[in-house]
Amino acid sequence: MVIQIRRYHIFAAVILAVLFGRAAIYSRETSERLVKAVELRPQAMAVPIPTLKKEISPIPEKKADIPLPAVKLKPLCLTFDDGPHPGQTERLLSILKEAHVRATFFVVGKQAELYPYLLKKIAQDGHELANHTYSHRNMKTLSDQEISEELEKTETLVSAATGKKMKYFRPPGGQYNSQVVAAAKARGYEMVLWSIFPQDHTNPPSALIRSRILGGAHKDGIVLLHSGVENTLETLPELIRTLKRRGYVFETVAQLRTEPHFQNFAKK
Ligand SMILES: [Zn+2]
Repeated sequence: MVIQIRRYHIFAAVILAVLFGRAAIYSRETSERLVKAVELRPQAMAVPIPTLKKEISPIPEKKADIPLPAVKLKPLCLTFDDGPHPGQTERLLSILKEAHVRATFFVVGKQAELYPYLLKKIAQDGHELANHTYSHRNMKTLSDQEISEELEKTETLVSAATGKKMKYFRPPGGQYNSQVVAAAKARGYEMVLWSIFPQDHTNPPSALIRSRILGGAHKDGIVLLHSGVENTLETLPELIRTLKRRGYVFETVAQLRTEPHFQNFAKK
């Protein structure tokens, strides 16, 4: 059988091809739209969750440093004797800076002479410098003249490095008599001892230093610590946090001086 191809056959074939083509394009576009809709849905649902989490952010640790009402505050003074010591004094300063604590440094002239830049750092950080004599000798064995010289030498070094004049002195080993007190007073110094003595100079374990200070801490207390003791540096950051939680605020000797109980420690 012979099929004759006429003009209208060709015309019909072209029309059909165009129609099929359009149907195929429509079908592809529709399925793409559906896929997009499915993809978008989970994203839209996930949006509020992270926003909520951010709103419930944890309370920053610094909140613990906010002072309690004034009536409950207990002033306490940290003092560091026998320094400065290179390396360890810098570490001590950064611990105190981090904790926003000011302390009093009873410096020895012989050490100050070797590391005057450390005196400067101590003063720049807002701490108090005090006199612990030049050569750390027992002041009870010295003449008035020698006592005066011991104080004066350290005084000159501190003044040259920081421009500061010191008000307080502490006799090495707590060794003093009325002659020591009078000779120091003649140079313009007031003696300062301590009321809490964790004996860190014998290098006990840091846990023992900590428990001795926490056990002995009291309002207007003066803690005797030593510069250059590793275990003291180790326990200090956590110890300061604990004392703050118990209502203590840290002051220098000069700040504590305004408190009425201070005189009891100086006259002990
Ligand atoms: Zn000492």
